Amino acid sequence: MRRIYFDNNATTSVAPEVFEAMRPYFVEQYGNASSIHWFGQQARAAVEAAREQVARLLNARSNEIIFTSGGTESDNTAIFGVVGAARSETKHVVTAAIEHHAVLHTCKALEKRGVNVTYVRVGSSGVVDPTDIQRAIRPDTVLITVMHANNEIGAVQPLEEIGCIAREAGIPFHTDAVQSVGKIPVDVERLGVDLLSLSAHKINGPKGAGAFYLRRGTVLRPLLYGGHHERDRRPGTENVSGIVGLGKAAELARSQLAEEAERVARLRDQLEAGILDRVPLATVTGDRARRLPTTTNIRFDYIEGEAFVIAMDLRGIACSTGAACSSGAVEPSHVLTAVGLTPAQARASIRFSLGRFNTADDVEEALRIIPAVVEQLRAISPHYKEQVVARQPSTAGKSI
Ligand SMILES: *Cc1c(COP(=O)(O)O)cnc(C)c1O
Repeated sequence: MRRIYFDNNATTSVAPEVFEAMRPYFVEQYGNASSIHWFGQQARAAVEAAREQVARLLNARSNEIIFTSGGTESDNTAIFGVVGAARSETKHVVTAAIEHHAVLHTCKALEKRGVNVTYVRVGSSGVVDPTDIQRAIRPDTVLITVMHANNEIGAVQPLEEIGCIAREAGIPFHTDAVQSVGKIPVDVERLGVDLLSLSAHKINGPKGAGAFYLRRGTVLRPLLYGGHHERDRRPGTENVSGIVGLGKAAELARSQLAEEAERVARLRDQLEAGILDRVPLATVTGDRARRLPTTTNIRFDYIEGEAFVIAMDLRGIACSTGAACSSGAVEPSHVLTAVGLTPAQARASIRFSLGRFNTADDVEEALRIIPAVVEQLRAISPHYKEQVVARQPSTAGKSI
C-alpha cells in the first residue's frame, strides 16, 4: 500500500543528504571530540562546523549555540537555567497557555518549587496578545517564555513585539522555536530573543539531537554537571553524528527556506480548501493567515478524532488528532481548549502537518479518501443522526 505521511509536526524523515553527512561519524571518524589525536580532531571539526551551520540559520554567533539531546532538553535547560540563576527573593515566570508540554510541564515543576507562573491566555486565533504579556509582568518576573509557532494549530506568535517588551523590562526572553526553525525565517536579532530552543528531528534531521541559542551575557545555571563540554552549559560526550545531522539539516533548510515554505503552503492550502469544499461541517481552527506553512488543524464535528486517525491509517494516511492520550484516557488538547473549543470539538479535531517530501499526489489521494472516512464515522455517530433529524423537520421524530 502507498503510504502518505501528514504528521511532520510530530517528526520527519531524515533527508538523504543528512543521512550521508552523518554516516562517516559512526564507523570511521568515531573519535571523542575532546581527544587530542586525529580521531578526536575530526570529531571536533565536525561539531564546530555544525555549530556554524546552526548559527547561520538563526543569524547568531556560533559561540551562542549549545548542543543538546533535543527540543525538550533545550526547553528545560533554558527555563530551569535562567530561573535557577536569577537572584530575586521571589520568582515569577510569564508564559502562554498554548505552549508545548516541554515548556508547560517545566513551568508546572517550577510552581512546585515555589515559583509563580502566569499562563497568558489566547483568543480563538491562537495568537498571544503582547499587551497581555506586558500586563502579566511583575517586579519579580525573571523569565518570559513564549513559543514561536504552535505545534498543533501552527499559530505564529508576535515575538518581535514581546521581545521589545522583554528588553524594555530587562527580563530574559526564551522561545520554543522547535516548529518554526527551518520553516519560516527565524532571526534571533529581529525577534529579540535571549534563548531559543530547536530540534533536529522536526527539520529532517535525526532524533535525539537539538540545540539552544544563548545570547552572549545571558546568565544560565546548567541542568547537568560533568565535564566541560559546550562551555560548561551542557556536559557529556557530544553526540557527534547527531550534531552533524542537525548541522546539515539546518543548512538544507536555510538554502531552500523560501521556496520550500511556498511549495508546502500551496499543498497545505490545496488540502485545506479541498476538505472544506468536500466535507460538510468542517472548520479550520486558529488564524489562517498567521500560521506555519506546514500545518492545518481541521475540526470535523460529530466524529471522534482517534477513530478518524485509525480509519485513515488503515487506508495508508498518517495524520494526528488534537487529543493526547495520557494514562489511558483521551484528554482533549490543552491548545484546542485554550482557543475556545469544547472538549468534544477538540476530540473531533485533526492535524495535518506537511513537510519536505509531500507532493501534490499525496494531497489528491488524501482528498479522495477523507470525505468517505468522515461520512462513515458520522454514520455511526448518534449525535450526528440527531443533528440531521433536527435539521430535517419532515423526518423529525422518526428514527433513522
Ligand atoms: C517536538 C516539539 C518539542 C520537543 O522536541 P523533542 O526534540 O522531541 O524533545 C518541543 N516543542 C515543540 C513546539 C515541539 O513541536
